[in-house]
Amino acid sequence: MTAKITPEQVHKSAIVIDTHADTPQRIADENYDLGNPLNGGNLNLESARKGNLGAEFFSIWVDPTANKGQFAHRTLVLIDAVRQQVAKHPDQMILVTTPEGIELAHREHKLATLMGIEGGHSIENSIGLLRDYYALGVRYMTLTWSNSNDWADSSGDINDKTIPHTKEGLTEFGKDVVYEMNRLGMMVDISHVSDKTFYRTLVISRAPVIASHSSARALCDAPRNMTDDMLRAVANNGGVVQVNFYSAFLSQSYRDAQKAMQPDVDKAVQAFKDKYKAEGKEVPDAEIEKLQRTFADRIPRPPLSLLIDHIDHIAKVAGVDHIGLGSDFDGVGGQLPEGIDSVADLPKITAALMERGYSAEDCRKILGGNLLRVFREVQQVAKELQAEDRPRITDKQPFDKPQK
Ligand SMILES: [Zn+2]
Repeated sequence: MTAKITPEQVHKSAIVIDTHADTPQRIADENYDLGNPLNGGNLNLESARKGNLGAEFFSIWVDPTANKGQFAHRTLVLIDAVRQQVAKHPDQMILVTTPEGIELAHREHKLATLMGIEGGHSIENSIGLLRDYYALGVRYMTLTWSNSNDWADSSGDINDKTIPHTKEGLTEFGKDVVYEMNRLGMMVDISHVSDKTFYRTLVISRAPVIASHSSARALCDAPRNMTDDMLRAVANNGGVVQVNFYSAFLSQSYRDAQKAMQPDVDKAVQAFKDKYKAEGKEVPDAEIEKLQRTFADRIPRPPLSLLIDHIDHIAKVAGVDHIGLGSDFDGVGGQLPEGIDSVADLPKITAALMERGYSAEDCRKILGGNLLRVFREVQQVAKELQAEDRPRITDKQPFDKPQK
């Protein structure tokens, strides 16, 4: 008789992959070093070790308002911030760009460090820049963030009539972007996009897509979450949905409470800004975030079981081969379920899944195996497309503007 495998053993044996952490902003703006204590953050090297985190996709997110006119500049600064951390901690981190690289890092007990760009505005309507980012190691791109761009629409502003949107979810140029991502082997990420852009992308993409950080809309009605029909569509496409840990994407009551509180938050932020302005200063973003956090902390955190409910729901609707983890750590102001404060807490998810009857094999798929499979398929499709005799897309072709 063999001894029963424990959740600890399962978690330890898995290649754990998280596809979304906003830590690069801390690194670039606060001079944060991953070797330092967490100090309010959700990810550092110590917590990664404790949580047996095998690979992190660090999010390269460019705030479209604060960086107007210099998206590429900011993108490059954030990419450099990640690469500098790897250079600083070569004994604990390794920059990788392939599924094999993730496996190698796992064998060497190093954190496989990858990057994903969050928001197609980073390419400034240039296929050339897209290729440059790929060359620097970026392996997924979220087609939009909360802002629509010239070639794809976002769930964040799709109902805003003052913003121009595409007719069919993607413009002709947008289709070229998806094709070039397929050809390069950069994963197409549909988190954040509008429903129309989601469905259009699934038709256009030659490779399976990912949702790097999205939860289930049936359980929490956020436009950023995915409907059951969308979950099934991703499954049919062979892709994977990486569940987001943000409390307001998990819990309807949390979301409602947050909404009810919003006018007070806005008022407080404005008063804070006015106070600084009177002194001739500008409020640092970190200070505003702190203020917002004092409000958020008044709403009770959802239980960990709710995060597991989302995983379970997606596993039931899309299948256990199409679900993974995309925490959004360091991007949600600490608004996370009870007991989930950093990547060190990831083993709790494995334990909770096994309690619900998930097998060791299923847990390993959810923890990272599914993402690894999709990453491999994306690279396989890239190889096939590169072998095709099709003229390379250049930036010289006419760029189509979105229909007003
Ligand atoms: Zn996001």
